[in-house]
Amino acid sequence: MPNHNVIIGGGPAATNAIETIRQFDGGDSKITLISDEPAHSRMALPYWLSGQVVREHTHTGDDGYFGNLGVETRIGEHVEKIDAKGKKLTLSGGSSLEFDQLLIATGSAPIGLPIPGADLDGVQPLWSLAHTQSALDAVDGVAKPRVVMIGSGFIGFIMLNAMHKRGWQLAVVEREAHVLPRMLNAQAADIAQKWLGRQGVDLHCGTTVSGITASGKAKTVELADGTKLEADLVIVATGVQPNVGFVASSGVDVEEGVPGGIPVNDRMQTNVSYIFAAGDVAKGPVLGSDEKAVHAIQPTAVDHGRIAGANMAGQSITYPGSLSMNILDVCGLQCASFGDWTDTGDTMTIANAEGFIYRSLIWTGDHITGAVFAGRPTDMGMLTDVGMVKGILQTNTAMGPWKQFLAENPFDIRRPYVATKVAQKLAGSTLLGRPAATRQFQFKGAGAASPAVGKSHDLYVSTKQG
Ligand SMILES: Cc1cc2nc3c(=O)[nH]c(=O)nc-3n(C[C@H](O)[C@H](O)[C@H](O)COP(=O)(O)OP(=O)(O)OC[C@H]3O[C@@H](n4cnc5c(N)ncnc54)[C@H](O)[C@@H]3O)c2cc1C
Repeated sequence: MPNHNVIIGGGPAATNAIETIRQFDGGDSKITLISDEPAHSRMALPYWLSGQVVREHTHTGDDGYFGNLGVETRIGEHVEKIDAKGKKLTLSGGSSLEFDQLLIATGSAPIGLPIPGADLDGVQPLWSLAHTQSALDAVDGVAKPRVVMIGSGFIGFIMLNAMHKRGWQLAVVEREAHVLPRMLNAQAADIAQKWLGRQGVDLHCGTTVSGITASGKAKTVELADGTKLEADLVIVATGVQPNVGFVASSGVDVEEGVPGGIPVNDRMQTNVSYIFAAGDVAKGPVLGSDEKAVHAIQPTAVDHGRIAGANMAGQSITYPGSLSMNILDVCGLQCASFGDWTDTGDTMTIANAEGFIYRSLIWTGDHITGAVFAGRPTDMGMLTDVGMVKGILQTNTAMGPWKQFLAENPFDIRRPYVATKVAQKLAGSTLLGRPAATRQFQFKGAGAASPAVGKSHDLYVSTKQG
């Protein structure tokens, strides 16, 4: 077995790869982790922004954790260059590091906005630990900060929800005709927009920002339609692209642009067999399709990391592919879309705009191949139905006569789910072909390193420790 595994990146793809290597090799290989940020979960940043947890609770691995796993860490260092053939990395500061196998798990980064005023203080993306800190600093001491968010994508809206919880005054500018254009169709988005209006969120769709000016700390965001919005903080949430700049000319194939990414096979190998890629940076297999895609979401990063880790540890485990899915709390309205949700062919839709209800199942023959949901969490079964439809898609289950049943009983997903044995199929399948092992962070009574904020967090942590 090759004995030096080098991992670039400290996100979920990297940490899951490391844990999986150790599950299989029991400590036999040398592992070095290089990450320019501390190991953390971007998914946890909204909870810090909303004040539900403290900054330290977004971190996923400290010296103790990596020490347990026998990992040498080089946190705060940046990889500048890869020499694939020479099996060598160049790091910031000019030092170099040799590897036998390499995992590129460098995630993605926000795309800037080429408009006047984009470089002003208090105009920023909201993607990293540093961005979250600077957003909190920018509004420190302001009683009800005014925030303008440019762009209305999935991640932007997760942060919008966190700011809504804080009671901040929110406005959104979206150049497409409706919010969440890459997650909801027009009808579902219309319901989400009505809901946001009720929550006091000021929406400006179908227009762009022409420039931002500042007078002291206050900013004015000027829209192409002439509207002027006042803000203490402007968030640029106009998309991300994979962090692949340092991979250029390395010998590893890269697709430039958006979404771009590093193409990988079903073992997460790049075109160079001993170099793997995983997570937001990787263009990997898609469930039920011959296409490859970047599905820049946490579950895909975790799956990619585990598959890469198993194969780096000498196993031969293939990935069935990731499912495109977005499940989002839109300031209290639950919205979700799965699979080929843009398909308008064979669909079953029920909608009640006044009741904030939307459900659409998209069919290919007797298979559900896409779905869109919007609804209040208090609606009977809304959240469990979302989970069941996701399971039906993941298992690619033929609905047979249950398709007609769903046409007549669109709110009764439970019966077809049980009758077609989706739960059994899910319970019987494991990503790595063996039962899941206990996560490393739970070992040795490891608990939260800092005090919990609020009772629900306290309860969660104490359950884990038990
Ligand atoms: C605010 C926010 C909320 C989110 N919420 C959700 C959610 O609710 N559900 C969901 O499914 N997904 C969510 N996501 C997306 C999810 O966090 C990402 O899909 C996931 O983090 C990708 O994991 P990764 O390991 O591929 O990359 P990342 O988590 O981005 O980690 C990559 C790391 O590599 C480091 N790095 C990059 N280049 C280099 C280099 N050259 N040298 C050294 N280090 C480098 C980066 O700084 C970073 O720390 C959210 C993302 C954000 C930003």
